[in-house]
Amino acid sequence: MKQQEILEKTSIINVKNKLNLKETFSTKDTIFVKCPFCSDNGAMKLNTTENSYICKNCGAKGYAIGLYAKNKYMTNRRAYESLLQEDADLSNNLKTAIITSTRKNDEELDIIYQSFLENLDLKSEHIMELLRYGFSMEDIERIGFKSIPIQEKDRINICNKLIKDDFDLEGTPGFFKDRKFRWNFKAHKGILIPIKENHRIIALRIHLEDIYNTDTTDIWFSSSQDCNGSKTLNNIMFLYPEENAIQFMNDTGTKDIIIVSEMILAYKIHLYFRNNIVIGVPNVISKKELQKLKRIQKVNDVHVVMDKHTVLHNSENLLENLYKLYPRRKIKLHFSLKDGEIPSSIENLNNYIDIQENIA
Ligand SMILES: [Zn+2]
Repeated sequence: MKQQEILEKTSIINVKNKLNLKETFSTKDTIFVKCPFCSDNGAMKLNTTENSYICKNCGAKGYAIGLYAKNKYMTNRRAYESLLQEDADLSNNLKTAIITSTRKNDEELDIIYQSFLENLDLKSEHIMELLRYGFSMEDIERIGFKSIPIQEKDRINICNKLIKDDFDLEGTPGFFKDRKFRWNFKAHKGILIPIKENHRIIALRIHLEDIYNTDTTDIWFSSSQDCNGSKTLNNIMFLYPEENAIQFMNDTGTKDIIIVSEMILAYKIHLYFRNNIVIGVPNVISKKELQKLKRIQKVNDVHVVMDKHTVLHNSENLLENLYKLYPRRKIKLHFSLKDGEIPSSIENLNNYIDIQENIA
């Protein structure tokens, strides 16, 4: 399928028409419709450049594919496939509506990255490394670690397979076009770590086999410097207590949070603190991304766990930003100086689950 055809079929305008959402008003790139969730007339605003929606009455928000999925009671992936099966209907009351490609939104990235990871394997030496790090085979499977194929031919084949499955790789961080204008993706030797938000994969982090630029062991799966490539956002990752994130967020008591640099260590620590909120952060962090921490209200202590690399190279960047958000007395530092080591200073925290004891 041609890229333009995919863009049109997955656009918010097509979704509006497939769902028969009644237009009440429109300006420039915005269409107001009757909200399908709360039935408020004209409360739902569709942004045709970002492919997003938001209802000012009930607060429902998201992107085109998710809007279709929720109304049809299906997964985002199924919604994507189903939208591609029918012709696009782009009728609307806007004066001009140009459907152009932009950076993919979180829903689109999730669908592509999921299919991408399904096409990858995890090499035995990476399985060994993760086992050494302290993950079980079950954890490895559940989190979804993968290896990046080093052979160019394999990478091109995977891209071709994704394109054949009607994925448009434009605007997907990590992917780019090579000198022969074939789609390809970045080939650093290392383990791909899915970075998730609300169970969606919004980015991929790479835990490198070899140190990069003598300076870092973890980098983003990103392609901003390449032809048709795009840049990933410098995401942080919230790992909520198992299965009860909503209850946790509504809990009125104060709580400790654990901020961990890097991501792979965050996944490890979350195994031991399943009743806490653990936030994985990249070793170089943006102030803007850290603002997301404000979602968590009534924070008691902020435990910061840093891996060896962060301690040596990037602790200033992380701490400087955290001190702007929380009073110094609340921030407690812990150091993990060996791969996957849980600092003994943090074991005294409430909610620590001794995995060994649980197994015994
Ligand atoms: Zn609504």
